[in-house]
Amino acid sequence: MTKRFRKNDGILLLVIGLVLLAGYVVSSFFRGETGAKAVVTVAGEVYGTYPLAQDDEIEIKIDGRAANVLQIKDGKADMIEADCPDKLCVHQKAIERTNETIVCLPHKVVVEIQDAKEADFDSMT
Ligand SMILES: [Zn+2]
Repeated sequence: MTKRFRKNDGILLLVIGLVLLAGYVVSSFFRGETGAKAVVTVAGEVYGTYPLAQDDEIEIKIDGRAANVLQIKDGKADMIEADCPDKLCVHQKAIERTNETIVCLPHKVVVEIQDAKEADFDSMT
């Protein structure tokens, strides 16, 4: 009796383990890849490229003033400050996955997450 109970216990643990593993694999598959860098464009022109691995705070300057402030922290990019009237970009959540974007329409600022595969033209400048 005791022996049989223990055997069932083992099977149950194995099933739970497999379910957890399958759930992890499926969720990481559908979640998409975590991006490698944040590309900032202003009015369609590339302003700069910033690796997500490195914590940073970037002032995006338009006409000489810091119009937006982008924070990179814990592998995520987040717009923490802006002097645009709607502040929609500030209210957008932090992004970290490939092709996610934060847009500031009044300033024509777009922050896009890209993976490392694409050519990184700005890393030298
Ligand atoms: Zn904005």
